[in-house]
Amino acid sequence: MAYPAPLEALVEAFQVLPGIGRRTAERLALHVLRDPSARALGLAIETAVKDTKRCTICRNVCEQEPCVICSDSKRDARRVLVVEEPAHVESVERAGVWEGRYHVLLGSFNPAEGTDARHLAVGGLIERLRSNVVQVDEVVLGMDPDKEGEATLLLVLEAIESAGLGVSVSRLSRGLPAGSGIEYLHRGVLEDAIEDRRAVRRKS
Ligand SMILES: [Zn+2]
Repeated sequence: MAYPAPLEALVEAFQVLPGIGRRTAERLALHVLRDPSARALGLAIETAVKDTKRCTICRNVCEQEPCVICSDSKRDARRVLVVEEPAHVESVERAGVWEGRYHVLLGSFNPAEGTDARHLAVGGLIERLRSNVVQVDEVVLGMDPDKEGEATLLLVLEAIESAGLGVSVSRLSRGLPAGSGIEYLHRGVLEDAIEDRRAVRRKS
């Protein structure tokens, strides 16, 4: 027997989420019907969507733009750490190992899975580096030490090269555990990776 239409709609809504298959979606939907406290989810989703935006400068998720990091004059605006996801900003901030600013690409480049380079906020980064509002001296490419991260890193590096920007570019030090996302690294490892970063392009 099929589920009533409203329940089926909820199951399908859960299935849209990454990593959630039909069985898990059914389990979650039935749990929501059973447990009143799980219903806060609906309001939380609505509020998060309504009350957050993308920072016009760094593209990170924020409540007010520019975000708190971009509007903090104590942060070194001449250094920009480029990361794939807002969760990576969160991890680096929690570790307290970066005093510069960020740029969030909102994804990684994975041509094999059909991710299009145009969906990443690379254009916004180039614009930002081109504009003379704040002179950026160094871009640190802080991508995940995996295949997608490497593809993304090369994409950003190429974009900077072809834009002919006079900025130095570095990448995180070698020796990061392969395949481990930035958000899972211990504070010390993250700190070393940033401290011992390697130049891949000198300032021209
Ligand atoms: Zn920002």
